[in-house]
Amino acid sequence: MPQIVPTELVVDHTYATDLPELCIAWSAATGPAPRLLVLNEALAAELGLDATWLASDDGMATLVGRTVPDGATPVAQAYAGHQFGGYSPRLGDGRALLVGELVDAGGVRRDLHLKGSGRTPFARGGDGKAAVGPMLREYVISEAMHALGIPTTRSLAVVATGEQIARDTMLPGAVLARVAASHVRVGTFQYAAATGGPDLVRRLADHVIARHHPQAIDATNPYLALLECAGQAQARLIARWMLVGFVHGVMNTDNMTISGETIDYGPCAFMDRYDPATVFSSIDHGGRYAYANQPPIGQWNLARLAETLLPLIDDDRERAVERATAVLTSYTDTYTSVWLDGMRAKVGLRTAQPTDRALVDEMLTMLHEQQLDFTGCFRALSDLLTGRAPADATPVDHALDASWVARWRHRLADESTRPEVAAAAMDAVNPVYIPRNHAVEEALAEASDRGDLTPLHRLLDAVRSPFTPRPGLEDLARPAPPSAGPYRTFCGT
Ligand code: AMP
Ligand code: MG
Repeated sequence: MPQIVPTELVVDHTYATDLPELCIAWSAATGPAPRLLVLNEALAAELGLDATWLASDDGMATLVGRTVPDGATPVAQAYAGHQFGGYSPRLGDGRALLVGELVDAGGVRRDLHLKGSGRTPFARGGDGKAAVGPMLREYVISEAMHALGIPTTRSLAVVATGEQIARDTMLPGAVLARVAASHVRVGTFQYAAATGGPDLVRRLADHVIARHHPQAIDATNPYLALLECAGQAQARLIARWMLVGFVHGVMNTDNMTISGETIDYGPCAFMDRYDPATVFSSIDHGGRYAYANQPPIGQWNLARLAETLLPLIDDDRERAVERATAVLTSYTDTYTSVWLDGMRAKVGLRTAQPTDRALVDEMLTMLHEQQLDFTGCFRALSDLLTGRAPADATPVDHALDASWVARWRHRLADESTRPEVAAAAMDAVNPVYIPRNHAVEEALAEASDRGDLTPLHRLLDAVRSPFTPRPGLEDLARPAPPSAGPYRTFCGT
């Protein structure tokens, strides 16, 4: 049993109290010699936590679950999930614990969660552990997402456990301390529906409405409103992923939150060359979670959530289905409009015209045909307006056909936007720095194999301020060289 000591951390437990059927009280079992690898001081401050204390022996013991904050009862959360379309009735936190909830400086309740903290009753065949590399990877990519303004779980710290864990080779183990609006997933609703029926689903829904979507409380049909809020949040989220070339890679229903935050940075990666069929995950053979499939998969997952809510939406099943179907349709409308607004901003347009969709689609077709770097192209496009020499040789002026460029310039001129103003607006939404796959791999290898965290901190510096080019970071703005070959990612590591 972990030692219970007074700490700086005071947590509470509305989830475990409201929904005891959906979690199991459990303790961490982590390695002998915790060593802090990275600590997110800005996030610690947001949470009202003292970074110096977190970095102390007591703080670190709490960050790996060896000591438990005052009043806390860590739990493993239960959930089900459709994984690649196949239903698993019992997944749950196999290697993670919800320590409890903290109320941050803005009054928002947030989960403190540990990943890699040892086997739980949901571990099935797994060892309950996580390796340093993948936990640092989640840290970097979630920080990048946050800096891009995309809703995400956050990473508070990665602590090496001092233990070697068995993967293809022996690797150093680590625990990631993660913070989220909550860890309630579509799969949590599926588990509640299957094990406790509509009564348990109603209690879960009430908990989630109060926590994430309080506007649903006053709706005539709060559970339909919950479905709508969760769907709208997801539609906006996935549109934001698409606008930065993010491929989540494992959009199973257990990896889709009800809050609308990105969760589970396993096999995700950012696309370099624009290709709608981009897949990184080594197990996604059919391309179910390919870049371009993400919007419809979000809707598919939302339909699974809707199924669990039907009995609460209307006693008459047919009417319930009809209402839920209307929400699923509105998901697509919201997605399309947020995405198109985002694409307009990426090319410097302030107003909406009926021809914009075609203009944007034509540009994307050219990027695809010419195999151009998605991120680099939008920065190169603003360089066309300012006459600035492109920071990198993204041959956008040759690749985009002259008639398209003329029409685009004409469209900007119609809005009476001066070119340098449009360019500045574009540069404020088109990142220079994303966590490029080759740079991430290099930084992780240095950290995990050689214990050198310098490249990781350099990469973190770059992606935390993604819109401002800085001298000395040019290499981090470039895509992988063609010789790099296809990038592959892995789950559950
Ligand atoms: P993920 O692919 O990370 O979404 O994980 C899917 C399921 O597998 C979840 O229930 C995880 O808790 C579980 N899982 C993944 N890796 C491990 C591990 N090493 N030990 C125990 N459970 C794991
Ligand atoms: Mg998961």
